Amino acid sequence: MSSRFDVIVVGGGPAGSIAALVLARGGARVALVDKAKFPRDKACGDIVGPRGLQVLADLGVPTPIGREVGEIVVVGPTGRRALLPCGQGLTYPGHGTAVTRTVFDSMLHDIAVDAGATAVQGQAVEPLESEGRIDGFRTSAGTDLRADFVIGADGATSRVAGAAGMVDAKRVLWGFAVRTYLPQVVDLPAILFWESARWQGFPGYGWVFPGATGGANVGLGLGTVADRRAGAKVQQALPRFLQHLVEAGLLNSVSTSMPSRRLGGWLKMGMVGTIPAAGRVLLVGDAAGLVNPLQGEGISQAMASGRCAAEALLGEPGGAVERYLAKLAVDHLPYHRITAALQGWLVGRPRAIAAVARLIVTAGRSDSISGGWSVFWNELLDGAPPGRHRSVAAMFSQLGEMMTAHTSTARWFDATIAGVRTPLTSRDASPFSAGSDSHHWNGRAAQPDSSRSIGESRSTQP
Ligand SMILES: Cc1cc2nc3c(=O)[nH]c(=O)nc-3n(C[C@H](O)[C@H](O)[C@H](O)COP(=O)(O)OP(=O)(O)OC[C@H]3O[C@@H](n4cnc5c(N)ncnc54)[C@H](O)[C@@H]3O)c2cc1C
Repeated sequence: MSSRFDVIVVGGGPAGSIAALVLARGGARVALVDKAKFPRDKACGDIVGPRGLQVLADLGVPTPIGREVGEIVVVGPTGRRALLPCGQGLTYPGHGTAVTRTVFDSMLHDIAVDAGATAVQGQAVEPLESEGRIDGFRTSAGTDLRADFVIGADGATSRVAGAAGMVDAKRVLWGFAVRTYLPQVVDLPAILFWESARWQGFPGYGWVFPGATGGANVGLGLGTVADRRAGAKVQQALPRFLQHLVEAGLLNSVSTSMPSRRLGGWLKMGMVGTIPAAGRVLLVGDAAGLVNPLQGEGISQAMASGRCAAEALLGEPGGAVERYLAKLAVDHLPYHRITAALQGWLVGRPRAIAAVARLIVTAGRSDSISGGWSVFWNELLDGAPPGRHRSVAAMFSQLGEMMTAHTSTARWFDATIAGVRTPLTSRDASPFSAGSDSHHWNGRAAQPDSSRSIGESRSTQP
């Protein structure tokens, strides 16, 4: 079996489904390939953040039905607490939503297919090449899918990124997290900085989030830098962490004794170590390493990048890869450049982690600091309304920039993504803004190395 499309999107999570939706609406022939049959579960804290809700609103996708979440309690290693507010932005709402991934991802997948994307169930296994470049993938079902462009939306351990040689394994900032559901009422989401022994800060954090339909989503995640073997430490630490939650009064002992299924997953954070686009391959979401290194959020970034990659492909002929890189460099790189370097430095320094955790909850008792910290660590500075919280967040950002300007992480970015010269001077100067021919697959779409347009490609059946 062999089929030809304009674009193959490998992975039907939030990044892939949004990319496929935008491409299908633009008139592209798009295959949405996933190894799983939907609905499928995914390890997650199940919170879609404010920017993610805004992406859905901008695309006219209904907000998922779930539980609204706003402010978050942060609990330090000594039990001291600070409340992080969640303010309305100029470009995003003042809340997120708790929704299970089984429901959310399935909803997005259905919407993409309803818009015209062709759902293909199968694992992208072997890359297919033409003239030395990736031209598609052979699936586990033996089908050859070929296209002018491939979008890798296949998560943190992306096969597409690996096959296209876009991952610098020594530089990737990995995290691993495990989640379980427990029968416990949760009023406010809580994040915990934990110490396995006094002043031995755990290199990550734990959480107790309200479940979308009652109960609690409880989990623990850690950063491992480039060492993926260290991910196993989370599973080992979880029972002791649950005991700590009971002692901290955040869980009752009955709920922790209830058996429930645990699900773990990798997070690829901070953009470092992955080239997001090259040749005919664009990576989105976790495949591109877009997870926030400070707090592990990735759904919003996945959907935003899926949209951005699709719009880059729907734009003027040629330069889709450069346009996508340019947009990432404006929207995400400044934050990741700082936070990837900070995270990379902290992991492996338990005393420093313990000190930072104590400082955050102590300073966080001031409204200005907690509000500013909330804006900064949730990557909400761009679009934050003027005021004290924005000013403090901008101060954190400038301080972070100064501290991380000469790190090896900064040098890696300079040599890769940041080195792309772009026509963009500000976030507003988007190549996808009104006036471009995005959303119209008009036979002139991006084709940097050939005079044939994507719209002229043919479907070939056996
Ligand atoms: C425990 C945990 C808790 C988290 N909590 C949150 C949270 O509360 N909020 C938040 O915003 N983020 C959270 N994240 C991060 C978030 O889950 C990811 O950032 C998000 O899922 C990224 O979406 P994606 O579409 O890029 O990838 P995914 O959601 O991972 O989707 C990838 C898809 O690709 C498919 N696939 C993989 N390989 C192949 C292949 N070879 N062929 C075909 N299909 C393939 C998979 O089946 C999957 O459907 C958490 C992560 C973990 C591990």
